[in-house]
Amino acid sequence: MNNSIPKVGFVSLGCPKATVDSEHILTRLRAEGYLISSSYQDADLVVVNTCGFIDSAVEESLDAIGEALAENGRVIVTGCLGAKGDVVRQAHPRVLAVTGPHAADEVMEVVHQHLPKPHDPYTDLVPPQGIRLTPKHYAYLKISEGCNHRCTFCIIPSLRGDLVSRPVGDVMQEAQNLVNAGVQELLVISQDTSAYGVDVKYRTGFWGGKPLRTRMTELVAALGELGVWVRLHYVYPYPHVDEVIPLMAQGKILPYLDIPFQHANQRILKLMKRPGNSDNVLARIKQWREICPELVLRSTFIVGFPGETEEEFEELLDFLEEAQLDRVGAFAYSPVDGAVANDLPDHVPPEVQQERLARLMWLQEEISEEKLRLKIGKTMTVLVDTVDENGAIARSYADAPEIDGQVYINGGSHLKVGDKVKVVITDSDTHDLWGELV
Ligand code: SF4
Repeated sequence: MNNSIPKVGFVSLGCPKATVDSEHILTRLRAEGYLISSSYQDADLVVVNTCGFIDSAVEESLDAIGEALAENGRVIVTGCLGAKGDVVRQAHPRVLAVTGPHAADEVMEVVHQHLPKPHDPYTDLVPPQGIRLTPKHYAYLKISEGCNHRCTFCIIPSLRGDLVSRPVGDVMQEAQNLVNAGVQELLVISQDTSAYGVDVKYRTGFWGGKPLRTRMTELVAALGELGVWVRLHYVYPYPHVDEVIPLMAQGKILPYLDIPFQHANQRILKLMKRPGNSDNVLARIKQWREICPELVLRSTFIVGFPGETEEEFEELLDFLEEAQLDRVGAFAYSPVDGAVANDLPDHVPPEVQQERLARLMWLQEEISEEKLRLKIGKTMTVLVDTVDENGAIARSYADAPEIDGQVYINGGSHLKVGDKVKVVITDSDTHDLWGELV
C-alpha cells in the first residue's frame, strides 16, 4: 500500500439523489488520485453526505458526523443537512467545513484546502462510468436537481433550489457509460422527472451526432434504445406523462411508473399545493391501462395531513380501492422543520394518524395480495440481485430495487448477479413472488 497517497473516508446517507451526489464526489476524488478509505482510522479526512428531510434523518446525520469526528477528527459535511449549516455547526463546531447538497465543486475545494491533492494523479484509473455505490447491475441516473413546486409539506426546494436539468447529451453519455460497464437496469431519478427540461425550455441538445430535445419523452425514448431496463421514478402527473405509456406498451422502457399522488381529496391536495383532480387521475389510469395492460403503478400517500377529516380520508381509501395501484408507500404526516404545512390549523392527533395509516395499509395489502396472486402461472423475466446456496433473489419489471417486492427463485443457486432469466410464478404473498426457472 502506498502510504503517501492521501485517503478520504466517505459516509453516504439519504435518498438515491444523495447517493448520486456521493458518486459524483467519489468519482472526482478518484479522478484526482485520492484513495477512498473504508475505515475512519486509515482516512486522512472524512466526508459525510447527509440527509435533512425529516427529523429522524437529521438525527441520523448528526450522529454520523459525531461518529466521524470521534473516530477520525477531520470531517467535511455536505448534503441536505449541510444546507442548514447552523444546525450542523451548533451540534458539531469542530467540523472543517459545511456545504449544501449537489456541491461537488465546493466539497473538492475544501478537500484540496485540508488535504492537498496528490502530485501525479492517474486519472486513467477511474472507469468512465465513475465510482458507484449501487451493485454493478443497476444504477441510478439523475437527470436534474431541485424542484419548481412548493408542496407545503416539503422543504426540498429550499434545500436544493429550483429545477436545473442536466444537459441531455451528458445524461445519455453517462447512461451509455453505465451500460458499457455492465449495468442492466437504469433507474431514472430526480425530484420531478416529468419536469425535465422545463428550465431550459426543452432546448435541443445532441446525442450520437443527432439532435435530441431536453424533455422526458425524448430522453426516455433514447434511453430505451440502449438495450437495458429503464425504470422511471418520481414522475409528477403532468399531461405529457401520457406520452411515455406507448413506449412502455412497445417494450422500449419498463411498464412501471412511480408517480407520487400524495392524496385523492381536492381540498387536501390544494392544502398540499399539489395539482391534480382525482377523477382525472382515475380516468387517466384507466386509459393508461388500456394502452399498456401490464403497467405497474407505484405511488406514495400522506395520511393525517393537517385538517384531514374522516370523510376526506375515506375518499382516499375509495380512490385506492378504485385505482388498484400495484405498490403503495404511505406515511403519517410529520412536521418537517421549515415546512409551510406546519402552520396549517387542525393537526390530526398522532393516534388518529396511526389508525388511518393502519387502515390504509390494510386495504392496500389486500389489493397487493390479490394482484400478486393473479401472477401465479405467468412467465416473467427477472433480474437476479443476489445468489446463495439456497437459490436466487430477483426482481421483475414490477419491482424497483429496495422499495418493492422480490421474486425468490427455487434452485437458482447456479445463477449470477445481473443475469436476466425467465421464471414461471408458482406462489405469492402480500409483497413477494416465488418462481421456478423455465
Ligand atoms: S414535487 Fe413537491 S414534494 Fe416533490 S420535491 Fe418538489 S416540492 Fe418537494
